[in-house]
Amino acid sequence: MSTSVIRADQVSKTYPGPPPTTVLHPVSLTIHAGEQIAVVGASGSGKSTLLAILGMLDDPTSGRVEVDGVATASMSERERSRIRATRIGFVFQQFHLLPALSALDNVATGLLYAGVPLRARRARAAAALRDVGLGHRLDHRPTQLSGGEQQRVAIARALVREPAVLFADEPTGALDSVTSAGVVDLLAGLTERGTTVVIVTHDNDIAASFARRVRITDGRVRDDAARRRSAS
Ligand code: ADP
Ligand code: MG
Repeated sequence: MSTSVIRADQVSKTYPGPPPTTVLHPVSLTIHAGEQIAVVGASGSGKSTLLAILGMLDDPTSGRVEVDGVATASMSERERSRIRATRIGFVFQQFHLLPALSALDNVATGLLYAGVPLRARRARAAAALRDVGLGHRLDHRPTQLSGGEQQRVAIARALVREPAVLFADEPTGALDSVTSAGVVDLLAGLTERGTTVVIVTHDNDIAASFARRVRITDGRVRDDAARRRSAS
């Protein structure tokens, strides 16, 4: 039986407003270790809201979220920070890189609060950049990199802490289609090294690269479909 890493049980979200707006109706979803999931739906359907709740960036209005079997509501602030730092990684549409820093140092910042000495931070950052195919761009600053390369740096920055789950919210939203395909392949391929991957996209073609697709419409899960993996 596969282990659940994150479980959402009847989570809802209502922004207080005014006017109060319910953007997520009770939704239940279990993310198992090693899965690759695309949350797909139209703009405004609640995808980012759901991802933020699953990734502990935001709290639900009602319902329960568990990480590694522990209810997030029962965690101290310190424990929540620890889980966010060690178990969860995030990538966004905008890469949020620091413009003055090299690719290497941008990735090394991912370990800044992990108590890792500078030399080791840089060694691990270099390895993470090699893993995303950027071993030849360690000293480039963001403005010296293409959009796809910048997103790979952001992915390396998230991966350098070896999260159990990597969440990516519209990671290809700022990229052209050819570059997008490379980033999507990279993300989907992370499951081979044991990282669970959950992406949000409004693009059905991108979602098709992921083994499990969860469709959100108007704040509700409409469909949750798993493709059988080929036996090869
Ligand atoms: P998606 O990522 O699918 O485009 P979001 O989760 O970002 O959708 O947003 C879902 C809905 O919630 C949208 O209609 C949006 O306008 C609304 N929303 C998002 N944030 C807030 C907020 N802070 N206050 C009120 N409404 C919000
Ligand atoms: Mg969104």
